[in-house]
Amino acid sequence: MKSIAFPNGSSVPALGQGTWYMGEAASRRADEVAALRYGIDLGMTLIDTAEMYADGGAEEVAGEAIAGCRDEVFLVSKVLPSNASRKGTVAACEASLDRLGTDRIDLYLLHWRGGVPLSETLQAFETLMSAGKIRSWGVSNLDVADMEKIIGLKGGDDCATDQVLYNLSRRGIEFDLLPWCRKRGMPIMAYSPIEQGRILRHPALAKIAARHGATPAQIALAWVLRDPHVLAIPKAGRRAHVAENRAAADLVLSPEDFHELDAAFPPPKRSQPLEML
Ligand code: NAP
Repeated sequence: MKSIAFPNGSSVPALGQGTWYMGEAASRRADEVAALRYGIDLGMTLIDTAEMYADGGAEEVAGEAIAGCRDEVFLVSKVLPSNASRKGTVAACEASLDRLGTDRIDLYLLHWRGGVPLSETLQAFETLMSAGKIRSWGVSNLDVADMEKIIGLKGGDDCATDQVLYNLSRRGIEFDLLPWCRKRGMPIMAYSPIEQGRILRHPALAKIAARHGATPAQIALAWVLRDPHVLAIPKAGRRAHVAENRAAADLVLSPEDFHELDAAFPPPKRSQPLEML
């Protein structure tokens, strides 16, 4: 599988696994753990979670899935803005580590910008790095102006990524944020890469999928993965979806496919505010 390097040199597969809505129902838990483990076996070893998801329940599911194979996995979690003070971030991270059943998070993100000054959160990230509790840090849902603020802060150059909403129907970042990150060698993590399934009935996707003997979800994922600076983290609670998503990383789209996708899902012509879910 294609891999992508973060600025600190650590390399991860371009296709990882999301966990939003996992850990919400006891009846689905075994399937969710099995789906994540299957994904790890298939090489989707980056797992994205957050303290917010199911109030920590998704981190517990992720923890169960990585038990016994922690060293093979690149673990991403996120602190809520309401916890992102200097002390609050450290406490939130320690609680996440407990739920994940591990001693370190590979990449720890500020989930979105709240009321706490960014400089305070960065100080907490540095404390956690020094203690070995996190290996790197980044942000999520920050637009160019806030990214400029981040890299202007002491230690801000260490920001590893911006995790943002990006898929065929949400292309706004191509105008400014994506080029900004590309210029700095900072990969983007694309969340909701299949728009939580809402774009999959689009006729253009169906037509291109038929041409490749693939599914619309695979075409949508292959499109996100076309960019060497973008990682995709689809969430799949079912093994069949996991297998389908993994195969999407091997799909190569043609110039004709890109042309048709641009016609159906036009790229942005001007700057627009960052969208988030
Ligand atoms: P998504 O990955 O675009 O879509 C997930 C949905 O699509 C699930 O209902 C899943 O069903 C279904 N699905 C997965 N693979 C499929 C396939 N091959 N064919 C048909 N349906 C398929 O949406 P998301 O969960 O919002 O985003 C992905 C991850 O990004 C999240 O889980 C989370 O880790 C992260 N995220 C981050 C933020 C942020 O603010 N930083 C926001 C949103 C999401 P099943 O589960 O039934 O398989």
